[in-house]
Amino acid sequence: ASPATNGGEDCCVKVAVHIRPLIADERAQGCKDCVTVVSGKPQVRTILLPHNVYESERVESEKQKSQLRLDGFGDSNGVQIGTHSFTFDHVYGSSGTPSSAMFEDCIAPLVDGLFQGYNATVLAYGQTGSGKTYTMGTGFKDGFQMGIIPQVMNVLFRKIETLKHQTEFQLHVSFIERDFGVKDSERRSERFAGSCDFEQIRYCEWARRYSFPCIKYRYMLMLTTNYRKDLCRSHAIFTITLEQMRKLNPVFPGDSNPNDSMNEEYLCAKLHLVDLAGSERAKRTGSDGMRFKEGVHINKGLLALGNVISALGDEKKRKEGVHVPYRDSKLTRLLQDSLGGNSRTVMIACISPADINAEETLNTLKYANRAR
Ligand code: ADP
Ligand code: MG
Repeated sequence: ASPATNGGEDCCVKVAVHIRPLIADERAQGCKDCVTVVSGKPQVRTILLPHNVYESERVESEKQKSQLRLDGFGDSNGVQIGTHSFTFDHVYGSSGTPSSAMFEDCIAPLVDGLFQGYNATVLAYGQTGSGKTYTMGTGFKDGFQMGIIPQVMNVLFRKIETLKHQTEFQLHVSFIERDFGVKDSERRSERFAGSCDFEQIRYCEWARRYSFPCIKYRYMLMLTTNYRKDLCRSHAIFTITLEQMRKLNPVFPGDSNPNDSMNEEYLCAKLHLVDLAGSERAKRTGSDGMRFKEGVHINKGLLALGNVISALGDEKKRKEGVHVPYRDSKLTRLLQDSLGGNSRTVMIACISPADINAEETLNTLKYANRAR
């Protein structure tokens, strides 16, 4: 059976929406709030007005057009003007649940799961500027302390500290940042020597800066080089691998032999924290509100991810053992061991409340909705 068919009773994909506040730049442009939360419900309502819609985008072919619809990226020609409502598992920010509750609701259970050997993935999805990096904490600068990653690390270390007497831990952390949609030959030369692949290790300034108690545990941070230029078009994946060797209580006191592997239980689990590439298809430039079209660029990984998540989220399909298309992109292949099966997945759809972003916000909500 494929891993997707032996999922647990409860749904393995949870979807939360995070609405960031209007930022200074948007307020300066006179943006209005176009996103509301239905009181007391995890329901988001967004309004798309004609003047917030980009001119019809040039899409190369009918085939590409129908593919876009299929992949939940919205219909590029028939944009739906009006009000749209979507219900999710959680809605944070704006007048929804306070953002501070997100960690306890969505992330802490995954960290607990790591100690029980369950893999998990957290995905931050949304257009550039919607708050993915801020939420995930992959910026490694201002606001970093508030993001999900440092909070996860703190909880992990606290738990390890309380359990270290009966369990030996090994913790590995890796951080990769790469435009998975770009062919190897097209990649800009990387600053480190040798071929560029995920395993390139660079000691990280960051570990020292945030002074995790890394001396106590075998803790390594793998980082690719600063590949920040095209960041909005690349995925940043922070992966935590927790290995445990648990000492089991001997049946008869005095029977235990410290070298006896029969008295030990080994567990290994992974948590991927992913700051996805920007989902936008249209780019705005200029401070005067001028808009222009860049070629329709859609990250292949995001397309594939949408298909995988939607296949996993569909209870009926899962029971029927429908094929989950993990192998369609590098991103989904990399995350395969932590998507579906017994793993848990949380998608955080990040949105801006500003009316100028209404069209992309609607696309994000549609994509997230498809995951449920
Ligand atoms: P993305 O990674 O999706 O491109 P960022 O995380 O870089 O977006 O956020 C864009 C801007 O919005 C940044 O200036 C960031 O500081 C701000 N921002 C994002 N989320 C919040 C939030 N929850 N509260 C306040 N400011 C935020
Ligand atoms: Mg970002």
